[in-house]
Amino acid sequence: MLNSLRRIVQEVNSVKNYAEALKLIVDRVAEAMNTDVCTIYMWDENAQRFFFTATRGLNQDLCGKLSLARDEGLVGLVGVREEPLNLERADAHPRFHYMEGIGEELYSAFLGVPIIHQRRVLGVLVVQQAARRRFDEAEEAFLVTLSAQLAGVIAHAEASGALHDDPNVELGQRPNAKFQGLGAVRGTAIGTAVVASPQANLEAVPSRPAGDINSEIERYNRAIDAVRMDIWKLREKLSSQLRPEERALFDVYLGMLNDNALGNEVLARIRGGEWAQGALASVILEHVRTFELMEDAYLRERAVDVKDLGRRVLSYMQNANQGEQEYPANTILVGEELTASMLGEVPKDKLIGLVSVRGSGNSHVAIMARAMGIPTVMGVMELPFARLEGCQLILDGYAGTVYANPGDELLQYFCEMLEIERQEIDALAELRDLPCETLDGQRIELVVNTGLNSDVSRSLDHGAEGVGLYRTEMPFMIRERFPSEEEQRRIYREHLKAFAPNPVTMRTLDIGGDKALPYFPIEEENPFLGWRGIRVTLDHPEIFLVQLRAMIRANEGLGNLKIMLPMISNVSELDDSLELIRRCYDELIDEGIESPMPKLGVMVEVPAAVYQARQLARRVDFLSVGSNDLTQYLLAVDRNNARVADLYHQYHPAVLQALVKIAQDARLEGKELSICGELAGDPGASILLAGMGYRTLSMSANNLPRVKSVLRQVSMAQAKDMLHRVLEMDSARDVQRSVDGLLRELGLSRMFQSSDD
Ligand code: PEP
Ligand code: MG
Repeated sequence: MLNSLRRIVQEVNSVKNYAEALKLIVDRVAEAMNTDVCTIYMWDENAQRFFFTATRGLNQDLCGKLSLARDEGLVGLVGVREEPLNLERADAHPRFHYMEGIGEELYSAFLGVPIIHQRRVLGVLVVQQAARRRFDEAEEAFLVTLSAQLAGVIAHAEASGALHDDPNVELGQRPNAKFQGLGAVRGTAIGTAVVASPQANLEAVPSRPAGDINSEIERYNRAIDAVRMDIWKLREKLSSQLRPEERALFDVYLGMLNDNALGNEVLARIRGGEWAQGALASVILEHVRTFELMEDAYLRERAVDVKDLGRRVLSYMQNANQGEQEYPANTILVGEELTASMLGEVPKDKLIGLVSVRGSGNSHVAIMARAMGIPTVMGVMELPFARLEGCQLILDGYAGTVYANPGDELLQYFCEMLEIERQEIDALAELRDLPCETLDGQRIELVVNTGLNSDVSRSLDHGAEGVGLYRTEMPFMIRERFPSEEEQRRIYREHLKAFAPNPVTMRTLDIGGDKALPYFPIEEENPFLGWRGIRVTLDHPEIFLVQLRAMIRANEGLGNLKIMLPMISNVSELDDSLELIRRCYDELIDEGIESPMPKLGVMVEVPAAVYQARQLARRVDFLSVGSNDLTQYLLAVDRNNARVADLYHQYHPAVLQALVKIAQDARLEGKELSICGELAGDPGASILLAGMGYRTLSMSANNLPRVKSVLRQVSMAQAKDMLHRVLEMDSARDVQRSVDGLLRELGLSRMFQSSDD
C-alpha cells in the first residue's frame, strides 16, 4: 500500500497538465484499489457546486458538464461533513441523487472521501463497485491518506488557474494568474520577474531561452569535463580506502557522464533553444523521476546518484555564469527561498519587489527588504516560481497577492494604486523635520533598525533620531570569513559617526536560527531553539571579544555607542557576558584607548526574560524588546514558516500582556526601555506601545514616517483608552480590528493598516 501511495503521488506530481493529473489520479486509484469506478468531483467556489470532473468507469463525456450543490447527493454530504462516507448500497441512502447519463446505476458500493487542503474542501474523491459490499478499513484508510497527500497537488493546480484554463498554456504564461501569499512589506510593484536560483538546486533552475546556442553547448561540455575530472581525482584519492562496491559507484558516475544518451538529450534541448542550465535540469529531473518510479529498490536508489551528478554539473555551470545575469529595470526578484545574499546581487536601482515561496513577514530577508523599502510578498506556497522568468508581475504587498501576466484592467487598477501611494509618500516626507509627539505633547523617540552602512542615508532621510538596533551580523553575512577587528572597527565607526551625537545601539553577533554565515555553518534539527545569539558568542569568546574591542575602539572620541545582548535566557548568560565586556573595556583602557564605557542592555526576546525582566534590568542600563522572537517563542510559532504564519500574531493578547509586564518592570527598576521588533514599526501598534509606556520605538526606516504621522494625530489619553480596551479582548483578530478601526477614524488609508479586512 505504501508503495502504491508513493508511486501515485510521485506520478501525479510529475504531470504538468493538471487535467491530465486528475485523470491519472482516477486511473491509478481504480487500479490500486481494484474498483470499477473512481471519480473526482471538484468544488467550484464561484458556482458553489461540486463538478463531475474526472472519472474512470463512468461516462467521461459528461465531465465538466454535471454538478451537484452542497446539499445534493452523497458527494455533497461528504463535502459538507468533511468526513468519509462508506456505504454498501449507495442507492438506499436518503441522500442518493441520481445523475442522468453518468452510468452510476450499475454500482452499489460507494466510498467517498473529502479532498481537504488547509481546512478548505477542494473536492471529493469517490470509488464505486458493482458488488454489494462495504469497503474494508484498510481501503478506507488508503483513500483518506491518498486524498490528504493529493490535496496539496490539486491546490497547487487550482491556485495557478490550471484547472480552469487551457492546459496547453504554460503555467507561468497564463493571463491574470493570481497567487496568494503573505504581505510582508507594504507597497505595490509592477515589473518583470527574475528568478533567483540557489546554488546546485535542480528544481529551482528557471527556464530561459538560450542566448547563443553554441556558447551554451560549450558551457555544458566544459562543466561535464570538469565533473569527470573531479570524480576521477576523488576515485584515485580514495581508491585504497574503498571497498569494491563503493568503488563501483564512482564507475557508475563516470559511466553516466560518458553516456551519450543523457548528454545527447541535454544537447538536443539546448539546440532547441533552451539555455544549458535549464536543459540539464529538465533532463536530469525526468531521469530521476523514471528511476524513482521503478519497482526494483536498487534501481530506485539510483535516482539519488543521477541527481547528485546533475547537481555537480549544474554547480560548475552556475559558477561559470556568475555575474552574467542581467537585471531589467523594475526587477521583481522571485525565488523558492530568497536570501540576503540574493538580494545583494541585484543592483539597487533596479530592484522594486521580492516574492518568495518560503518564509514569512518575519523572516530576516523580509526584514531587510523592509529596511530597504522594497514591497515584498512571502510564503506564496503555490507559486510555480521556476517558470516565471521574464513574466510581467504585479505585486500587492498589502494583500500579499502576486499576479502574473496581468490584463489591461488589472494593470490600470494597480497603476492608479501606485500613484496614490506615491502621493502619500510625498506627503509623509514633509514630516521629516517635525518632532514625533502626541497631540498632548508626549515625545516618543523614533529610531531605526539598521544592518548595513547603506541603510544610513535612508535612515537620516526619514528623520531617524538614532539607531535602536544595529544588526551586526549583516556585515558578517556578506563576507567570506569573519571580518577582522580592524575591518569591524571601521564599519562600526562609520555608523557611529553618521548618527553622532545620537545613540547607536549595536547588538552583538546574533547568528543561528535563520541567519547563517556561509563560512560558519550551524546544522541543527531545531535551529530556533538551538545554538543562537549569545549562546554562540559565549561559546566562542575569541569571536565575541574581537567584536567588543572593535565596537569600543570605534567609539573613541564619539561616545554614542550602546551595546545590546541578544537571546539572553538566564541571568548567568548575562553575568558572563557583562564580565567579558568589562574585561575587554579594561584591557582597552590599559592599552591607552580613550573611550567612555558604553551603556549596556539586554534584549527581551524569550519568555524566560519576560519573567526575569527585573533581575535582568538591575544588571544593565536598558532593556529592549525583540518582539519578533518574543512572539515566536510565546506562541510556539516558527517566524519563518509560511504554513503557520496565520498563527504568528503580534497582536495576540499574550504578547500584549508580556509587553505590558516588561514596561512595568523596567519602570520599577528605573531603567530605559525600547522595543526594536517589527511591531514597533506597525503604525497601529505604535499607539498601543505609547499607551504602555514605551518611549523609544526602533523600526525599519521605511516605516518611520508612517508611525510618526499616526502618533502626531493621537493623544496619550486616546492611546491609553485604546490600550485598556484591547487588553480586555480575547483574540488577536479583535485587537487588530479595533486598532484598524481607530486608524480609519483618523482618516488613514490602508497604507497604515495592519490588515486588509
Ligand atoms: C527580534 O527578535 O525582535 C529582533 C529585533 O531581532 P531579530 O529580528 O534580528 O531576531
Ligand atoms: Mg531576535
